[in-house]
Amino acid sequence: MAALHGLGDGRHRPAGAAARTPAGFLLRYRRLDAQPSRLNRLLLYRASRRSFAASSVDYRQANRGYEVMSTRALFHEDAYQTRCDATITAIDEAGIHLDQTVFYPLGGGQAGDAGTLTLADGTVIAIADTRKAKFEGATPDDAVHVPAPGQEDALAKLKAGHRVSAEIDWERRYRHMRLHTASHLICAVLPYPVDGCSITMDYARLDLATVEPIEREDVETKLRELIGGSHDVRTEWITDDEMAARPELVRTMSVKPPMGLGRVRLLRIENVDLQPCGGTHVRNTGEIGGLRIAKLEKKSARTRRLVLELA
Ligand SMILES: [Zn+2]
Repeated sequence: MAALHGLGDGRHRPAGAAARTPAGFLLRYRRLDAQPSRLNRLLLYRASRRSFAASSVDYRQANRGYEVMSTRALFHEDAYQTRCDATITAIDEAGIHLDQTVFYPLGGGQAGDAGTLTLADGTVIAIADTRKAKFEGATPDDAVHVPAPGQEDALAKLKAGHRVSAEIDWERRYRHMRLHTASHLICAVLPYPVDGCSITMDYARLDLATVEPIEREDVETKLRELIGGSHDVRTEWITDDEMAARPELVRTMSVKPPMGLGRVRLLRIENVDLQPCGGTHVRNTGEIGGLRIAKLEKKSARTRRLVLELA
């Protein structure tokens, strides 16, 4: 904290600012307080060990005087927010860490976001992908923004503490949101356990554990009805204990909801579907628009693979 508060040039978090921030933010600072030096040491160790081999950027210098901390995941509250101001908290061989972000990191089957980070001097860094950060004590919200290749000169300018404007590729993200919400509708139409799921700009692929035949036209008709029914989609939170008491909510065999953080995020499609999910979704099924089943095949004796595309 001393490092964060001691910079004092107006671009950084001023001393005493924590008292004026929302409760969630304050919590993260407190958690950082609990073990700052350990995280910092780990980050510096990782950065110094590999950074010079990876590129010409001196991460050790870039991170000097700063401590890594958790990312505030703004997309959990508002999936439609396309940009935010943020502070770089660390730079390492994996990419750029921010104190808050609108970029969704790859997870739960949904692809990571792409977009741009714009520095105060107007330099634009293209972000090709977003991944979950992997450092000791990282939460599922901790994201690392992966720069597109060939930007070494721009990356060399970055330092922890710099302010950036982070903006996602909204066209790409909105397709993720439409296809992701559509995959929840599939769960309602075909109530089988999900044994794998991948959501990209171009398709949503679901593997369903069933030996039952699936009729393409029947599924497409039911999907059209659910989309045309304009059902509201919203997020709810329950405690870990409530989640543990309702195992029937979990539809995905391979991905368990993140427990141990105190609360679990549920996605409710009014009168259609309710399950734990950390992804990004549209506000109403009507926004999904036209869909078609591009592929329906037997993946194995016990698994049917279904690929959805936007029409
Ligand atoms: Zn979801």
